[in-house]
Amino acid sequence: MDSPTVVVLGSVNMDLVTTAARRPAPGETVLGSDFATVPGGKGANQAIAAARSGARVRFLGAIGDDTFGAELTATLLDAGVDTTLLRRVDGPSGIASIVVDGTGENSIIVVAGANGQLTELTAAELAAIAAADILLCQLEIPIDTVLTAARHARASGTVVALNPSPVQSLPTELWTAVDLAIVNSLESEQYSVELTQVAHVVRTLGGAGAVYRGEEETELTVAGLPVEVVDTTGAGDAFTGALVATWNQGASTALNWANTAGALATTRLGASSSIPSSAQIAAALTTS
Ligand code: ADP
Repeated sequence: MDSPTVVVLGSVNMDLVTTAARRPAPGETVLGSDFATVPGGKGANQAIAAARSGARVRFLGAIGDDTFGAELTATLLDAGVDTTLLRRVDGPSGIASIVVDGTGENSIIVVAGANGQLTELTAAELAAIAAADILLCQLEIPIDTVLTAARHARASGTVVALNPSPVQSLPTELWTAVDLAIVNSLESEQYSVELTQVAHVVRTLGGAGAVYRGEEETELTVAGLPVEVVDTTGAGDAFTGALVATWNQGASTALNWANTAGALATTRLGASSSIPSSAQIAAALTTS
């Protein structure tokens, strides 16, 4: 089967991860033990996951004019994501400042940076959406932009997939433009009413796998794969990108593929760095 063209419209961030025995109190300075910069942002993570699953992926988003922007672009390119329409805007790239303490508890500040400047889609961006098989969005960029993209995709015959995260109140017009929603347990609860309007809904259930509900109440379930969990960060993004990349092969195939991608992502540390390739997913599927 032809690999689909996926356009991902969303966020790209640099995660600045500091590790310290404890988090500082107001006005206090503590000595940390570790620091790492890790490419992230739900949009970029899901674009990388879709590309690693074999889709042709084009990323629509914005980086700043700083060194993080260059690093983030390189990460997307490395994964085979087309960045020709990635905008470079004045000011900082999006970042997440994360402090992890000795108990594993974290505190996070997210600064949207360039992601917040992603308003008013250009003619080239709209054309890319219209030409794609599937559009995938999340909610880490301005909602009006997501709505414009979803409406344009709908009018052009492009399938609209939405991972409505982080949870927030959304206009009804957005829900009515969505063909496929991918939600975790928390999102499933928070959007329980809105999701009844969506034709195809995939609910991820962590270690318990995932459930698909289609038109006329058809339902499919897939059990979680038994894996040695190292870090569940990014499992949902790995799942979502993999699902969208295989959606044209039917819900059952896509659900199994994505569930395997999500499970494999938990066996490695990190978000974008833990996303499995199609060869790794295929190998795990034949042995499970
Ligand atoms: P999120 O990370 O968005 O909260 P989930 O926790 O539901 O989403 O995980 C997404 C998917 O990743 C699951 O549907 C499953 O396929 C896989 N997954 C997550 N945690 C585990 C686990 N402990 N064991 C096996 N698979 C997992």
